[in-house]
Amino acid sequence: MSLPIVDTFGRKHTYLRISLTDKCNLRCTYCMPKEDMQFMPSKWLMQADEIKALAEIFVGMGVDKIRLTGGEPLIRKDVGQIVSDLGKLPTSLTLTTNAVFIDQFIGNLRDAGVNSLNVSLDTLREDRFIAVTKRDHFTKTLHNIRLLLAEGFVVKINMVVMKGINEDEVNDFVRMTLEQPNLHVRFIEFMPFKGNQWDMSKIVSYNDLLSEINNEFDFQQLTGELQDTAHRFQVTGGAGTFGIIGTVTHPFCSGCNRIRLTADGKLKNCLFDTSEVDLLTPLRAGQDVRTLIYAHFHKKHFAHGGHADFTEKHAKSDYEQNRNMIAIGG
Ligand code: SAM
Ligand code: SF4
Repeated sequence: MSLPIVDTFGRKHTYLRISLTDKCNLRCTYCMPKEDMQFMPSKWLMQADEIKALAEIFVGMGVDKIRLTGGEPLIRKDVGQIVSDLGKLPTSLTLTTNAVFIDQFIGNLRDAGVNSLNVSLDTLREDRFIAVTKRDHFTKTLHNIRLLLAEGFVVKINMVVMKGINEDEVNDFVRMTLEQPNLHVRFIEFMPFKGNQWDMSKIVSYNDLLSEINNEFDFQQLTGELQDTAHRFQVTGGAGTFGIIGTVTHPFCSGCNRIRLTADGKLKNCLFDTSEVDLLTPLRAGQDVRTLIYAHFHKKHFAHGGHADFTEKHAKSDYEQNRNMIAIGG
């Protein structure tokens, strides 16, 4: 067992998010830029055995939770193999997905010990789904969410709330949690990334979300852990929960335990930090990558990758230097 990955603020990093691809079967406007999206050539991507090798190294450094993400992780042809390999590690394994291909992989996921998934769904209206994702997979997505629930999986729905797009559906999403103990909804503040037309005025803030929900429901805040991204709540008498991920207006950096590995094997110590360290090339050359990992986390900033507050004027030039979300892995 190697030493844990601890930064200069004493934060221990135990949660690894691995992006399997920067490609996707949807085109969500807030995630993938409309223009200038250049996908990685497949030879740049970590192969299944390389993902396994890197995951084992991180587990040896204290990682106890792995999330597969992307792009859309389930569009990778070898995702069944990857899930099966990582399912054998002594960690919890989970996935963030748009659920379009869930019906094809539900057996693999169960066999690998996955029992909880995050699923993106930003609207309960078909026309809006098509407008946001640019693809006609609404019925399939809802069918697969129901399938996951029927098969006993815990489903956390991620809804990115955007002004003038879907903010009027927040309470419809809260209502979904009333009867279903395995269903949790998380409202995410729209975050700025390269090419996603972000603007502070498009955010529905943490406080605005709470007051909108308060117009219709009585609810209580639930106790959480320091590393939780979402502040969680439950409607009085409700079965499931809802949460708010207020990255922009309510940052949760003080408890950050996250490590990100992009599909091309670059290590990121924060979603918003533009600096990256290549782990794949040295791994392929047979070198020990652990010193690179420790050094990169030693440089981790306290909040938002060291960039200016998003509300400041110069923030835009900061996040436009970063990758777009689909190429980082959400
Ligand atoms: N394709 C999978 C999915 O959609 O769940 C996994 C990848 S996606 C990049 C991961 C998460 O990032 C999704 O829940 C998505 O809603 C979120 N996301 C993407 N762009 C975002 C943005 N600009 N602001 C907030 N959340 C965003
Ligand atoms: Fe694809 Fe997920 Fe990004 Fe939507 S949010 S474009 S489903 S990667």
